[in-house]
Amino acid sequence: MTSSRITVSGIPVQIDRKPIKNLHVGVYPPDGKVRLAVPLKTTDDAARLAVVSRLGWIKRHQKNFQEQPRQSEREMVNGESHYVFGRRHLLEVIERYGRHELEIGPSDKLKLYVRPGTGTEGRKRALQRWHRELLAARIPALIAKWGPKLRVKVADWGVRRMKTKWGSCSIEARRIWLNSELAKAPEECLEYVVVHEMVHLLERNHTAKFRKLLFDHLSDWELRRHTLESVYLSQPGQTELQRWA
Ligand SMILES: [Zn+2]
Repeated sequence: MTSSRITVSGIPVQIDRKPIKNLHVGVYPPDGKVRLAVPLKTTDDAARLAVVSRLGWIKRHQKNFQEQPRQSEREMVNGESHYVFGRRHLLEVIERYGRHELEIGPSDKLKLYVRPGTGTEGRKRALQRWHRELLAARIPALIAKWGPKLRVKVADWGVRRMKTKWGSCSIEARRIWLNSELAKAPEECLEYVVVHEMVHLLERNHTAKFRKLLFDHLSDWELRRHTLESVYLSQPGQTELQRWA
């Protein structure tokens, strides 16, 4: 891989030339640094053109990073907002003996039941486990719905926390992984990520064939992805821009 630098409209851009087929642009936290990965033979002029054509998108994401209050981590205390499938809920912590539990109460509050003395970390773990349960309850139906449509078999799936991706897959094992953070985004975003990973079982890379498959089956996939990125970025404490790997 070789790297070079160009400046486009005052924005410094790092260009990484790699043995890849498609160009890929990313804006990265915390300060909105722009990196462009391009196929080996791409000239600086072609790279510049690619950046120019995406300037709107790049600036939008950079603005998101700048406006992002560098808010500290969630403290898991009363009144804090938490998103569940795209809806904002205010947290209510209720101490009681027994199993840690979460539920959305009648007043739309997110109720967290924990044993007295449970600290921030313990509360977070309870929330994360609940996120995994919420997703686990929905994923099998999505796989059952999309398997026949895409003509692809998923042998196994799982939910885990991922720092840089919404989903991933193992083509050999025919297994897909979903990021537990997806429980915060609207359900159509979860469906998009499930379909995206299932399409990878048919086509490993983000080729034209991949995009056609995705578009043929989920024509609004770009909108769903945009929703996912914008909703996620609008949430305090979340500064990571997720790109597809
Ligand atoms: Zn992908």
